[in-house]
Parts: sequence; structure tokens; C-alpha cells
Amino acid sequence: MTGKVYLVGAGPGGTGLLTVRAREVIDAAEVILYDQLPGEEILESLPAAPEKIDCGKYGSDHTLEQDEIEAVMVARAQAGKRVVRLKGGDSFVFGRGGEELEVLLAHGIPVEVVPGVTSAVAVPAAVGIPLTHRKYASQVTILTGHEDPKKTGTALDWELLAKGRGTIVILMGVKNLPTIAESLLTNGKNPDTPVAIIERGLRKDQRVTVAPLRDIGSRAKEVGVTPPAIIVIGDVVRLFHEDRQSFVAND
Ligand code: SAH
Repeated sequence: MTGKVYLVGAGPGGTGLLTVRAREVIDAAEVILYDQLPGEEILESLPAAPEKIDCGKYGSDHTLEQDEIEAVMVARAQAGKRVVRLKGGDSFVFGRGGEELEVLLAHGIPVEVVPGVTSAVAVPAAVGIPLTHRKYASQVTILTGHEDPKKTGTALDWELLAKGRGTIVILMGVKNLPTIAESLLTNGKNPDTPVAIIERGLRKDQRVTVAPLRDIGSRAKEVGVTPPAIIVIGDVVRLFHEDRQSFVAND
């Protein structure tokens, strides 16, 4: 009598970009494990009945460890429950969904993955920045800025990234932005490459900061950029215009 675990991407915030399938499995859940990234509207829209487990406030230290989260999912599913693991954006894009899938399968637990609208795509879209464009970019690289590029043993190849001609999208990159910019520049990336930082995309207090690569570190510091933010590097940023509407509805 094993239950099932649903690895659900909640989209980038706001109930408008939650998929129909996500809504269905959330409303039928008996246990919901969540953190703060899906945003208030979605968290407030969770049904009252299921057991709800807060896995941690976004950006704070008070979190359940990943192995504790996995242990809870496994235990509830083994008790026959329908368990939803709710993540911001898409669970498989820097959401540790891949690790969770492995653990669940190792325990023989049935799993359904519900893909979500990832912030990596939707947040730039909201401000009119397409990640590809026939004129500007034919490839996209999505990477985590969580790693300090100066650390030895970094998993990212900054030389290759600097040489690449497409769009670079960085998640979790606010803290290391100055060293990221420096690494790209010292590896030969054009200092005039435009960069956009979109903070709290699709939220009421969304803010966009644009500067050329050579200045983006100091500009971010000047305006006090804070996470969560998406950083877009590449010529597609030229399509951003301050005076335009927000292009993605979110409710
Ligand atoms: N799985 C998520 C990403 C989780 S990593 C997804 O697919 O969207 C967390 C990072 O996502 C944040 O540090 C930030 O870089 C980005 N992010 C998520 N939501 C965001 C939003 N509304 N605005 C800006 N950045 C966001």
C-alpha cells in the first residue's frame, strides 16, 4: 500500500503560472512539503486539509536538511500517502528534484514529475527578454552562480563560458556577481556585453538593473541588489526597454 510522490514545479510565483496538472495534484495531496520560493500567492492557495511541512524559509538558515526532507517524503509515501513536494519554478532546474527522484526510486516509491515554468525562462520573459532570438542568440546556458569562480575545483568552465556566443542565465548569482563578472572579463568576454539583473521577477516589487559587463558588479552594489534574482548576460538584453509593460501576467 505504497503511496506516491509528486515532484511539482510551482512556477516562478503567482497562481497564474501554476500548471493545471500541478493544481490537480496539490488539491488531491495528503501531505505537502514546501519552502518559500513558490511565493505567497501559491502558498496561500494550498488546501487546508493536507499535512503541510515547511522545509525552510528561503534564504534563511532555518531549513530541514535535504536528507531529512527526503526521509519525510519516503516515510509518508511508505505510509500510503499522496505526497506533493512543491518547488519554485521547475524541480529539475536547480531544484534538487533529480536527487529526490533517485532516492524515491531507490525506495521503490512511485513518482510523478510535474514540470513547472522555470524562473530561468519566465523572469526574463516578464521584462521582454527572450533567451534566444534569431538576431542575437542561438544558444542558452543556464548556470548556478552559487559557486565562487575563484574557488579551486569549480564545476564551471569560465573560459568556455566567456568564449560562448549565446545567452548566459545565472541563478543564485547575486552574492558572487562581482567575481563572476571578473572571471568572464579575464577570460576574454567583451566588456560591453549587456547584463540585466531581474530581482523578484513577477512580484509586485520586481526591479531590473542593466549595465555592461564591465560595470555590472559595481552597479549591483550601488543599487543594493538582493536575491532572488536572475542575471541575464548577452545581446538579447538589448531588447529590454525600461518604459515597457510587464509581459507576463501572474494571477
Ligand atoms: N527551481 C527554480 C530555481 C531554484 S534556485 C526554478 O526553476 O525557477 C533559486 C534561484 O532561482 C534564485 O536564487 C533566483 O536566481 C531564481 N529565482 C527563482 N524565482 C525567482 C524570481 N521570482 N525572480 C528572480 N529570480 C528567481
